[in-house]
Amino acid sequence: FEKFTTFLLENYHTITLFFFFSGLIIFLILLVIPAYYGRYTQTTRKFLMFPNKIAWIVMEVISPISLLIGISMIQNFSKFSFKFNYLEIIYLSHYIYRSLIFPLLISPSKKSSKVAFEIMLMAIVFNSFNGILNGIALQTKTVIYQNFFLDLFKNPLSFLGLILIVSGFSVNFLADRHLISLRSDGSTRYKIPTWFVFEYVTSANYFGEIVEWFGFWVASRTLAAFVFFCWTCFNLIPRAITHHRWYHEHFEEYPKSRKIVIPFIF
Ligand code: NDP
Repeated sequence: FEKFTTFLLENYHTITLFFFFSGLIIFLILLVIPAYYGRYTQTTRKFLMFPNKIAWIVMEVISPISLLIGISMIQNFSKFSFKFNYLEIIYLSHYIYRSLIFPLLISPSKKSSKVAFEIMLMAIVFNSFNGILNGIALQTKTVIYQNFFLDLFKNPLSFLGLILIVSGFSVNFLADRHLISLRSDGSTRYKIPTWFVFEYVTSANYFGEIVEWFGFWVASRTLAAFVFFCWTCFNLIPRAITHHRWYHEHFEEYPKSRKIVIPFIF
């Protein structure tokens, strides 16, 4: 573990940039081939397919664990004297929600009840790198500033970032709740979402997630958070484009005025 830590810390910038460029390649691939989960699951395939809820838990629980590993590379956990800063607590809370609460709330359709192994693997690799790199970056700031919380009141960017994080998470959470509620009658069909942010964009939940991690970068101003924000766009923008096309193909009455993912713009 010590050798691995030394290697990561010595090559932090190179590894983070490598992580950025691998995301860019994934973005180009996803523009052509949609990620095969949810409504795009290939139902004919039977091998290496895992139940949807279990897959979400396994993929996402890696995030808080890898963040803690990243933090422990800077701060010695064995002394039990580590301090978390507010951005680490936000990251941990988001992923505890995403890995342990969100999967229990969803009611997958028959088609989306399974997730392919390679999608899980991709998410696990992404969440491992992302958590470790952000853990290192955030904990380094905690050590430099000692009381990182004070930064919120000293630097307007940190305060603005926090507002964006809270607003983005609220939109993401409420939009996901709305999508989940569309099946509260026990059906597993797709319906046209109507909650107010969906009146502006097809993928209101992705819009919230993008704003949230943009805010995280604004508040932390680290290279790792910038790359995390880019990865979020690399993952979600192609999927939002595909969702938009999918709604227009499946619902004649789908509102023409809705943008794809950024209200009024795109
Ligand atoms: P989707 O919008 O594709 O689906 C979310 C849930 O709502 C699924 O359970 C889906 O069911 C259901 N649903 C979607 N549309 C409808 C509809 N019209 N009618 C009824 N039910 C519907 O989101 P994802 O599954 O891609 O992502 C889930 C969350 O994870 C989002 O909040 C997203 O922001 C986040 N995420 C973040 C990423 C990142 O890089 N930061 C990457 C990927 C996801 P079904 O599964 O049956 O389609």
